[in-house]
Amino acid sequence: MILKILGCGTSTGVPIPGCDCAVCSSPDPKNHRNRTSALIKLDSGDNILIDASTDLRQQALRWNVRRINAMLLTHAHADHILGMDDLRCFNFTLRAPIPCYGLADSLQDVRRVFSYVFDPDPNYEGGMLPQITLNPIEAYRPITILGTEILPFELRHGRMTVLGFRCGNIAYATDCKTIPERSITALKGVRFLVLDGLRYEQHRTHLTIDEAIEIAGKIGAEKTYLTHMTHSVDYSETMAKLPPHVELAYDGLEIPGT
Ligand SMILES: [Zn+2]
Ligand SMILES: [Zn+2]
Ligand SMILES: [Zn+2]
Repeated sequence: MILKILGCGTSTGVPIPGCDCAVCSSPDPKNHRNRTSALIKLDSGDNILIDASTDLRQQALRWNVRRINAMLLTHAHADHILGMDDLRCFNFTLRAPIPCYGLADSLQDVRRVFSYVFDPDPNYEGGMLPQITLNPIEAYRPITILGTEILPFELRHGRMTVLGFRCGNIAYATDCKTIPERSITALKGVRFLVLDGLRYEQHRTHLTIDEAIEIAGKIGAEKTYLTHMTHSVDYSETMAKLPPHVELAYDGLEIPGT
């Protein structure tokens, strides 16, 4: 399988509309970041989406994503769920509901935000609504989706608990400020890690780049890719400063897994 980064930008995306800073006006495509999400591409051709970012439609068109068979949800912040309405395009090709797996609290938020989907008006007269099933999962209890085992693990994103996902030798851990010891243990032996690394300046709910480097060292992956970056992070300037086992992700990056 392959983990593809569909977007590695913070909640505003980069460039930010109206901002004239060096990164927002940069011609380097690696400084153009859609909202954070990823795709587990299975050898069978099936795909598992991690979060439905606000940019899901553009990401699907840009990277020629033709099927989404299931979705893993890290947490229900707007930048990670607002693309869920666009999942209906994939209902057309799949001809079945798309199962979404996440923490019960996150799924409750999805149900509230998308009440027109989950508690539809009996007099609704519009087009087809997305068909999504909500399936609660628990941290540290592996689940099997399309024959692939996935281990959800906990992350702390300020006061919120967020799920990260380990799939074989790859782990994905966005939107976090700290990682519980039990999750550090669960991540031992991963070859590739995708980890929150918002910017150099402190933030209450996201890892800074220096904090992410420290955690990357603790987990010991061969390569850690930082994600969820904001517009103060220039790709080439920052890459030149990072230790050899840490890199910045970019939209379209493909990480080989087993
Ligand atoms: Zn986010
Ligand atoms: Zn900017
Ligand atoms: Zn968040």
